[in-house]
Amino acid sequence: MPTYSRLDKAFVKGEGCYLYDEEGNEYLDMLAGIGVVGLGHADPAIAKTISEQAAKLIHTSNIYRIPAQEALAEKLTQISAMENCFFSNSGAEANEAAIKIARLHGRTLNIDQAQIIVMENAFHGRTLATLSATASRKVQAGFEPLVPGFIRVPYNDIKAVKDIADKNKHIVAVLLEPVQGEGGIHIADKDYLNSLYEICQEKNWLLMLDEVQSGNGRTGKYFAFQHTSIKPDVVTTAKALGNGLPIGACLAANKAAGLMKAGNHGSTYGGNHLVCTVALEVVNRLSQSDFLSSVEEKGQYFFNALTKELSGNEKVVNIRHHGLMMGIELVDDAPQLVQEALNQGLLINVTSGKVIRLLPPLIVEKEQMDLCVSILANLINGKLLK
Ligand code: PLP
Repeated sequence: MPTYSRLDKAFVKGEGCYLYDEEGNEYLDMLAGIGVVGLGHADPAIAKTISEQAAKLIHTSNIYRIPAQEALAEKLTQISAMENCFFSNSGAEANEAAIKIARLHGRTLNIDQAQIIVMENAFHGRTLATLSATASRKVQAGFEPLVPGFIRVPYNDIKAVKDIADKNKHIVAVLLEPVQGEGGIHIADKDYLNSLYEICQEKNWLLMLDEVQSGNGRTGKYFAFQHTSIKPDVVTTAKALGNGLPIGACLAANKAAGLMKAGNHGSTYGGNHLVCTVALEVVNRLSQSDFLSSVEEKGQYFFNALTKELSGNEKVVNIRHHGLMMGIELVDDAPQLVQEALNQGLLINVTSGKVIRLLPPLIVEKEQMDLCVSILANLINGKLLK
């Protein structure tokens, strides 16, 4: 089905931050499969883990114990200070689990018409519940009736949440991305997250963070919320957890941790031997000393280089970043930019019409960021290199 408006380009090989097409042309990948390939393409240790595990055992279903799933749950809960974990195959499914947990939480409060506060500019996925939680009309149009139970407020606006808190007795949770990715790299203020946490505590709401894109090292901590001292009740993640293999996770703590019971939820593939073994390798690599601090340093270097080259440019509104999640907001929509960058051997993304989004592999090097900055500056200034 033509659900994607694809570029007419196929890659046949990858290595680190580079992809290669059928003719052997090299492309600098500053998108990493939309924030998925954190450790880079064709990482030898990941490839070895995949082939060894595939030769041993891929799948047995969740009817039986899966030791790698138990070990991964242990590792992720330990890193995040959460209590337990459900494994899915994607980010949307991880969020579905979170939404179901919020509704179960509502039942414990005798609220059967539960509502979840969600944000303007949010993106949570393409299933019916997650597209209903998503802010984009483009994502929702044609799929009505939407799943009820979401109430939307502006992002980073604590007053909007407080106003609802005083009036609406059906709220059971707040769901937000600590950094909005698809929405254009908008970063939640620390004070805002702290206040949300306090309101959730006071009102007995679940604080649910969608870290599908911002998790797994992308911002320079394992999860973006770890830049603050808040303790979320639910954290979802996916994307870079499997470095390209499909796996998502919904982590729960506090009042959210005991809500799911046997039979409440499930997934045939979810957390099978192969994906969990590979994700364990990913998590171990991200946990090696200095890895996450290097992501933070690289993010700062990239931001400084982009700022030096582009600040004051009349076509640029501003540049935003959290670790290696970079957004360059342009004055005008730039639908042609992705193809133009591809023509120059650079892979980027434009989201929300006019925000250039860069999510390079976390192993990116300074020379690669420098090259990206110079190509981008030329493109934005309308100077094509060839
Ligand atoms: N949540 C966020 C914050 C995302 O960025 C995405 C995907 O871009 C999703 C959820 C959906 O994830 P998936 O495409 O794996 O279902």
